[in-house]
Amino acid sequence: TEAWGPDDDELRPHRGPVKVRVPAKINLHLGVGPLRPDGYHELNTVYHAISLFDELTARRGDTLTVTMEGEGTGELALDESNLIIKAARALATRARVPAYARLHLRKSIPLAGGLAGGSADAAATLIACDLLWGLGMSRDRLAEVGAELGSDVPFLLHGGTALGTGHGETVSPILARPTTWHWVVAIADGGLSTPAVYRELDRLRDDSWPPAPLGGPDQLMAALRQRDPEVLGAALGNDLQPAALSLRPQLADVLKAGHEAGAITGLVSGSGPTCVFLAADAAHAQEVAAGLTAAKVCRAAVTARGPQPGARVT
Ligand code: ATP
Repeated sequence: TEAWGPDDDELRPHRGPVKVRVPAKINLHLGVGPLRPDGYHELNTVYHAISLFDELTARRGDTLTVTMEGEGTGELALDESNLIIKAARALATRARVPAYARLHLRKSIPLAGGLAGGSADAAATLIACDLLWGLGMSRDRLAEVGAELGSDVPFLLHGGTALGTGHGETVSPILARPTTWHWVVAIADGGLSTPAVYRELDRLRDDSWPPAPLGGPDQLMAALRQRDPEVLGAALGNDLQPAALSLRPQLADVLKAGHEAGAITGLVSGSGPTCVFLAADAAHAQEVAAGLTAAKVCRAAVTARGPQPGARVT
């Protein structure tokens, strides 16, 4: 028999369906630099993928269609503005194949929550269509396509815990001893617009008493190497938090309730309004989630574990 290499199977179009699971992200450290002339902020961030998942199923079709169910999907247009459609088209253009697929999304990641749900769906679409169309592209090449769709897409293809630079699209994995961290995710009613939160940060930074910037992620990186949640908790930080709190003052009540429920520490996730809390172990996370639920300060409080792998076929 002739050897055609290990990728031969992948290069054949898949009969489908292809089912892909993709995690949400939180930022353990989010350092925001000044606004650049190109309109982006220079970021230094530590991404962390957690066990809150969207699931995308891709089937063969003779046109491109998307259907969705779950969290916030009623508010999302199914036209060319949808990141799933954008991702499928971008991949098809790059690979010079027709963008034919029937895509279905089951959404659990809240919309505009600071958890990068839209980028997660784009990442899942790239993985699913790559397999459905038999393209056999590497994760790094998919990440190049993804970076043009959203800054968080490359991270959501890789998952785990990783350093993000540039405007977040340049990702390098952080090799730490395998440790599971336990989180409680407080989901808010309604979302926050990411550009609005950045604008608010720029406004606060023009004030006479601007919030002090975090700087680099060195302390957080050192904390990850230890297995102590107290040490990690002390190193968590987010430059966008003052801006999110300024636009949504009620988030202070959520952070306070998490603290009173016994969390090690809590912070706003990315641009918010989701808040995340670190717990010592799974049982402690359950307790904190119960405390937050009883305090009635958020729509839902759920437990999650990280790190998780990036977008993967199930
Ligand atoms: P980030 O943390 O990356 O800033 P986010 O979690 O705050 O993002 P997303 O849920 O990623 O916010 O969505 C941001 C916006 O992207 C939505 O308000 C919506 O207008 C748009 N969008 C387009 N397609 C999708 C999709 N498939 N899923 C979610 N949002 C989408």
